[in-house]
Amino acid sequence: KYAQKDILITGGAGFIGSHVVRRFVQTYKEYHIHNLDALTYAGNLENLRDIETSENYSFVKGDISDAGFINQLFQENRFDGVIHLAAESHVDRSITEPLSFVKTNVLGTVNLLNASLGLATKNPDFRFYHISTDEVYGALGESGLFTEHTPYSPNSPYSASKASSDHFVRAYGETYGLPFVISNCSNNYGPNHFPEKLIPLFINNIIDNRALPVYGDGNYTRDWLYVKDHAVAIDLVFHDGQNGETYNIGGFNEWKNIDLVKLLCRLMDEKLKRPQGSSEKLITFVKDRPGHDLRYAIDATKINKELGWKPSVTFEEGLALTIDWYLNNQEWLDHVTSGDYKTYYDKQYQQ
Ligand code: NAD
Repeated sequence: KYAQKDILITGGAGFIGSHVVRRFVQTYKEYHIHNLDALTYAGNLENLRDIETSENYSFVKGDISDAGFINQLFQENRFDGVIHLAAESHVDRSITEPLSFVKTNVLGTVNLLNASLGLATKNPDFRFYHISTDEVYGALGESGLFTEHTPYSPNSPYSASKASSDHFVRAYGETYGLPFVISNCSNNYGPNHFPEKLIPLFINNIIDNRALPVYGDGNYTRDWLYVKDHAVAIDLVFHDGQNGETYNIGGFNEWKNIDLVKLLCRLMDEKLKRPQGSSEKLITFVKDRPGHDLRYAIDATKINKELGWKPSVTFEEGLALTIDWYLNNQEWLDHVTSGDYKTYYDKQYQQ
């Protein structure tokens, strides 16, 4: 269906990026997928163990905030498109170290945009695809949904840095005519999620009978999307999205945090064959995060109507798949929690 292309995917060793890389490598044999990742604490090449020897895949280690390195990379390769996922992504870390979020999410994005301008002038089919979050829209009250026209109102250093990068992408489109698309997605969950994030953290803690720390009263609400459904949406937006447009991506799946934790506890008791109620006893309420947004919910009508996308699994199905994956991949989890995943790159790529 598509001509031969060289595609740069940034952040491909991370949670969502690894699912996007796998989908592109396996679906588009005629493409060459270049995965650029700095391998921070969140980047783990073990996520891509199954496809790393594919002929149409290569890995480049590097930091997007290093302009010299990025310019050199774009001079040596004639990328036809960039799918940009590399970011500092954890809200709690952004509260303690905001500058690293500015460096990677803002400066890193602008470096990629600058380098892309040169390629876009030579190749009319070039496209810059920026992956972003619904957190740029701020918080909702009890009702309403984020649409593509909701004004930006970020509340955390993380969402402020993502909002800033979204604006730079749009501005490069307006000012220099760079062909771009943006998507803003709700919370993802699924295999390969770093265990500092809620769902994998709680699965891990339940396995080990450790406390489940729930912020505040547990009433804040998020929309959850299975990560492989996000990867399908990214594929569709990259290929069929309109230049200069934004697409909201969400699971039509809103959950109060406490209800999500109770559902997870019930499913874990079933999977681990523990008496119902054992995991719920581990719930402990802890002091709320500062600036914690009450509710996010996405209206994904546009991508549904224009590109025909919708989630393929229900929340309960997706959670069951996720729990099975964590139970069957204890080695991955052990490596991540002990820090051993860091030696994987040295062993595989440095010999
Ligand atoms: P992640 O933290 O799991 O992965 C980020 C990846 O980027 C890691 O592999 C890391 O090594 C790499 N990276 C970080 N700094 C880098 C740098 N300076 N140079 C090169 N690589 C660097 O994040 P994720 O959850 O997979 O999120 C991916 C993207 O999707 C982010 O842009 C995030 O804002 C966005 N997003 C995430 C969610 C979610 O629920 N996780 C929802 C919506 C949007």
